Amino acid sequence: MTDSYFEQALLLLRKFYGYPSFRPAQEPVVRSLLAGHDTVAIMPTGAGKSICFQIPALIFPGITLVISPLISLMKDQVDALSEQGIAATYINSSLSMKESGARLDAIARGKYKLIYVAPERLDTGYFQYILEHQPISMVAVDEAHCLSQWGHDFRPSYRQIAPFIAGLPRRPLVTAFTATATPEVRDDIVRLLDLHHPDIHVSGFDRPNLYFEVQRGVDKKTFITRYLKDHPDESGIIYAATRKEVDKLYEFLKKKRLAVGRYHAGLSDQARAKAQDDFLYDNLQVIVATNAFGMGIDKSNVRFVIHYNMPKNIEAYYQEAGRAGRDGEPGECILLFSPQDTMTQRYLINVSTEDEQRKIHNLSKLQKMVDYCHTPDCLRAFIIRYFGGVPEKDECDNCSTCLSADEKEDITIPAQMVFSCVYRMHERFGLTLVAQVLKGSADQRVRQLHFDELSTYGLMKNRKLADIKLLIQRFIATDYLALTESEYPVIRLQPAAYDVLKGRRKVWQAVPKKVEKAPATPKLFDYLRTLRKDIASENHIPPYLVFSDATLRDMCEVQPTSLDEMLNVKGVGERKLERFGQQFLDCIRQHR
Ligand code: ADP
Repeated sequence: MTDSYFEQALLLLRKFYGYPSFRPAQEPVVRSLLAGHDTVAIMPTGAGKSICFQIPALIFPGITLVISPLISLMKDQVDALSEQGIAATYINSSLSMKESGARLDAIARGKYKLIYVAPERLDTGYFQYILEHQPISMVAVDEAHCLSQWGHDFRPSYRQIAPFIAGLPRRPLVTAFTATATPEVRDDIVRLLDLHHPDIHVSGFDRPNLYFEVQRGVDKKTFITRYLKDHPDESGIIYAATRKEVDKLYEFLKKKRLAVGRYHAGLSDQARAKAQDDFLYDNLQVIVATNAFGMGIDKSNVRFVIHYNMPKNIEAYYQEAGRAGRDGEPGECILLFSPQDTMTQRYLINVSTEDEQRKIHNLSKLQKMVDYCHTPDCLRAFIIRYFGGVPEKDECDNCSTCLSADEKEDITIPAQMVFSCVYRMHERFGLTLVAQVLKGSADQRVRQLHFDELSTYGLMKNRKLADIKLLIQRFIATDYLALTESEYPVIRLQPAAYDVLKGRRKVWQAVPKKVEKAPATPKLFDYLRTLRKDIASENHIPPYLVFSDATLRDMCEVQPTSLDEMLNVKGVGERKLERFGQQFLDCIRQHR
């Protein structure tokens, strides 16, 4: 039986979405749901979560209720479904009374298969009444990490979901989706949704199409100016830590005559809505924003995400950076680090109203983020390990470390100098003081503590203080050293450092080479992109809802000569073929 359901799922995938097959991570999730099992799916952004519940929703007899945290996200998904010819709607506070009344009536008449709803709506009487009389086959909880206090976006309203389900006349199938969930968050999801023996699918956290880069010590504004000039036609997000930083950077880039928008919680609702729409509709290629921007952004053709400041933890970073390349096409995720960022984040944690235990937890997460910025190893492998995965290889060939690593240099001797200095200072001091002692600094504190009498004093006098600090940071990032979790963190030696001191282990470091990248975009793609923009404007929808970048690239690849052949292009379903096929075909013909 399940197999015939699965066959049906494949047919629907081709018909409505224009995709020939499920991705390897999607298939087991779809199969679980079709077999009627409660399911938790943890899949990275861009893996295609939505399709995993949308297709079963089309097969199940009744309604599927999708619980989603953000209004803009709902609208986006419902617009995309409507474009594909699937009966979906949403109910949230952005609608007028009249409009939501009309939608509720249509729901009561069984007009929709998928209904997106905010968790706050679940306990409104009229809505409950309708749902008690309409069969609900499945409840899909999107962004399910919002349930957990340990997640980074806890939303108390998510706790209303389980009681709501328990109050329904017949228990529907329940499924939860999230991109980032550590084991503790995963357990919370199962417990707080009261899932019944769920199938849990964790797909790899890797996003092979994303390139990761960390830049330390660059002039951030110059870097961004140059980057934007080098990538004039690409959509991108630049994240900064505070509203003030966003405003300053925005003004700076404006003065440089670069077309950028801005978004943060201090702007009026109107200004924010406009910035967001301009970005979605490709009227504005680049947006400078705080982390208030993006959770509701499903835009698939974001080509780069630059972090002007380091975020507070890897979860937040991966989620924000992961907004690049959702269409599976190459995306760049660049983090511009400066030591000041660490101080800002530490400060924010310390002044927060959270309890002590939670602050310590947050500080240790911050330290991992700092480690990411200093690791001399593969950045992708670092992220995958952080989320509890096992990287396939130690080198990915698509991050700044792997692309720049030409050969490895033996740095055992400098490592021994650093470790022995930490040892002689009795593991009781922080990074700056250790670096100063190695540098042979005449600083008053060094002398007061008689560290100028240590045998390690001035061992690295020929290096710059900043370089010594970087070296130490790298030893922290690679677990030779550790920082204590306290207000004034001190450096401790780890077992690996003792092995190095005793000469039992060598330390290697990659030697950087210059990275050259070939930008060249094919011309046909540009013509198709212009056509997409025109069609989108005529239809008042964002361009990526016409076709994704990936679909346009596949068109360049396949170069269809008929509407039938056009159906072979990934992302062209029947409905879109009918609406836009001919125009794209003409465009290809003209520019071939
Ligand atoms: P997520 O919600 O996991 O971030 P989305 O549902 O937005 O991901 O999907 C990301 C992109 O991948 C979308 O452009 C979507 O159309 C595309 N996609 C999803 N499933 C498939 C598939 N089976 N084959 C090809 N592309 C797919």
